[in-house]
Amino acid sequence: MSPIKKYSILKTFEELGVAPNIIRAITEMGYVSPMPVQEEVIPYLLGDGNEVIALAQTGTGKTAAFGLPILQQIDISDLQPQAVILCPTRELCLQIADDLNDYSKYIDKLKVLPVYGGSSIESQIRTLKRGVHVIVATPGRLIDLINRKTVDLQKVKNVILDEADEMLNMGFSESLDEILSHVPKTRNMLLFSATMPAEIARITKKYMRNPHEIVIGRKNEGAEHVKHLYYMVNARDKYLVLKRLADYNPNIYGIIFCRTKKETQEIADLLIKDGYNADSLHGDLSQAQRDYVMQKFRLRNIQLLVATDVAARGLDVEDLTHIINYGLPDDIESYTHRSGRTGRAGKTGTSIAIINLKEKHKIREIEKNINKKFEQGVIPSGKQICERQLFSFIDKLEKVEVNDDEIKDFLPSIYRKLDWLDKEDIIKRLISHEFNLLIDYYQDAGDIEAPQEGGAGKRERWERDKRPAGKGTGTGRSSEKGYARLFINLGRMDGLAPQNVIGLLNDNVSGRKVDIGRIDLMKNFSFFEVREADKDRVIQGLDGIKAMGRRVAVEQAQESPSDDRKKKIEKKNYKEGPKEYRKDNYKDKYKGSYKSKDKKKGKDR
Ligand code: AMP
Repeated sequence: MSPIKKYSILKTFEELGVAPNIIRAITEMGYVSPMPVQEEVIPYLLGDGNEVIALAQTGTGKTAAFGLPILQQIDISDLQPQAVILCPTRELCLQIADDLNDYSKYIDKLKVLPVYGGSSIESQIRTLKRGVHVIVATPGRLIDLINRKTVDLQKVKNVILDEADEMLNMGFSESLDEILSHVPKTRNMLLFSATMPAEIARITKKYMRNPHEIVIGRKNEGAEHVKHLYYMVNARDKYLVLKRLADYNPNIYGIIFCRTKKETQEIADLLIKDGYNADSLHGDLSQAQRDYVMQKFRLRNIQLLVATDVAARGLDVEDLTHIINYGLPDDIESYTHRSGRTGRAGKTGTSIAIINLKEKHKIREIEKNINKKFEQGVIPSGKQICERQLFSFIDKLEKVEVNDDEIKDFLPSIYRKLDWLDKEDIIKRLISHEFNLLIDYYQDAGDIEAPQEGGAGKRERWERDKRPAGKGTGTGRSSEKGYARLFINLGRMDGLAPQNVIGLLNDNVSGRKVDIGRIDLMKNFSFFEVREADKDRVIQGLDGIKAMGRRVAVEQAQESPSDDRKKKIEKKNYKEGPKEYRKDNYKDKYKGSYKSKDKKKGKDR
C-alpha cells in the first residue's frame, strides 16, 4: 500500500471528469470540492477496466467516490442491473441507496434499488421485475433473490464491496463466491474497507486483477483526533465506574459497547433506572424498535446508547464525544471500528476502555495496532464529579438564551416573591435545587479503588469479601459506602434479572425512589444493595409479597459469602451454606403463615 498522500492542489469535480448533471446534484447537496478519496478514486474509475482497493473509514466520502463514476457509466436505455453494491447492514444499504438517488437527481429514469433482509421480499421482487440499474444489497438477501431466479446479474459491470471487513463475520467469503458466480468474469471489483485483516487481503488476491490501492488515513490507525484512555477496575465496580464517567462528563454523547445482547440490555436498564438518558440497541430488538432507538439517538434525545458491535454497525452518527468500551472486544479490529466512531470531521473524541487486570495485555496489543498510546485514567472522586457538574450547569446558566418578551409578564410578581432573598441566597437555592440529589449520592460514596497490579492475595481477598455488608470501606463487598446488602430468595432459576429487582422495588416499596447499588444474581437466590436509609422500607415492602410464582423473602444479608463460597452454596443447593440462606429456613419461616401474608398484601398493595 502506498503511504498517505498529501493533496496540495485541490481539484474540482469537473476536472475529475464528473458529468455536469451529477455536479449539479451534488452542488445542491453542498459538495463544493472533492474529498481526498474522491480525488483519487473518481478519475481512475471513470477509466476502463480499473479495480480499486481503498482503505477508508466511514465519513471519508467513499460513497460518492464509488457512487459518482458508477452512476455516470450506467446505460439508462438498458434497464438491467449494471452495478451491484454489497454492504453489511440494512441501514447502510438504505443510506447508500439514498445517496445514489440524490447524486442521480438529474439523471432521468435512473433506477436504484436497495434490497436487504428483514423486510418484504415480495415488494423487492416486484420492483426488480419492473427493472433497475443499480442494486444495493446485503449479501444474504441478494443470494435469496438469485436463488429465486428473480434477479439477473449478467449485465453487471461493477461490483462494489463496501465496509468489506464488516461483512467478514457474516460468512462473506462464501456469499461472495456464490454472488460472483452469477456475474460476468469481465466485471470490475471495488473494495472499500476500514481495516485490512488477512481474510480481506485473501479476497482481494482471489478476485481482483492488479487493483489500484489507496489508503486514506494510515492503515489500521486509530483516528487522529481520538484520545484513548483506560480505567482499570475490579469487575464488581465496572458499572459504578461507568456511572462516574458519565457523571464526570455532563455533556457526553456517546456509545457504550458491550459484548453480549444480554449485558447490553442489563446495562441500559440500570442506566435508565438510575436516571440517565440512555437506551439499548441490540439484535434481540425488532427492526422497528432498532430504527426508533437509532432515530432518538441521532436526534440526541438519547445521550448514551448501549449497543453491541453488530447492532451499531448501521448507525452513522457524527460528533460523538465518547466511545466507552464496557470491556474490550475479542478482536482488535472491533476496537478500531468502535473508537473510529468518535473524533470525526476534525473534532476531538475520547475512547474509553473500562477493563479488569486480565485485560491489560490487550491494551498493549491495541496500542501496537493503532500506533497510539493509551493513558491510564484515574476514576473521578465524588467531589470532582460534583464540581464538574456544577460548573457545567453554571456555564449553561451563563449562556442560556433569555427571551425577555416571553417572561416579562411573570417577572414583576417573581421579583416581588423573591424580594427577601439576596443574590447569594438565590444562587445557593438554585444550585441546591439542581444538585441536592447528586451531592447526596456522592457525599457518602468513597473512592473506588483500582485493583492492585500483582493482585491481592487469596487471604486478602477472602478477608475483604467477608466484611459485613453496609460497613464497606469502598473495598468491601458493599460497593459504595452507606449501602446495605439484602438477601432475596429469588434467583436466576426463577427468571430473576436485574430489571426485575428494579421492577419489584418500584412496584412495591412506597415513598421516595430507592437507589439500588450492586445486584448479584445467583441460581436460587440473590443479593442486592440499597442505601442504609432505605433498607427497612425495602424489607417491609418486599418481604412476604408474591412474585415470580414464589412467596418473596427479603432480609439483610448477615455476611457476604465470597464468590468461591457462593458457588459452593449453589452447588449443594445451599444445604451447607450459612444458616440464614438455607432454603429450609424459608420453608419453615412461611409454613402455615400464608394467611397473615395475604392479609398484608391486601392491606399494603
Ligand atoms: P461517506 O464516507 O460516504 O459516508 O461520507 C461522509 C459524509 O461526507 C456524508 O455526509 C457525505 O454526504 C459527505 N460528503 C461526501 N463527499 C463530500 C464532498 N465532496 N463535500 C462535502 N461533503 C461530502
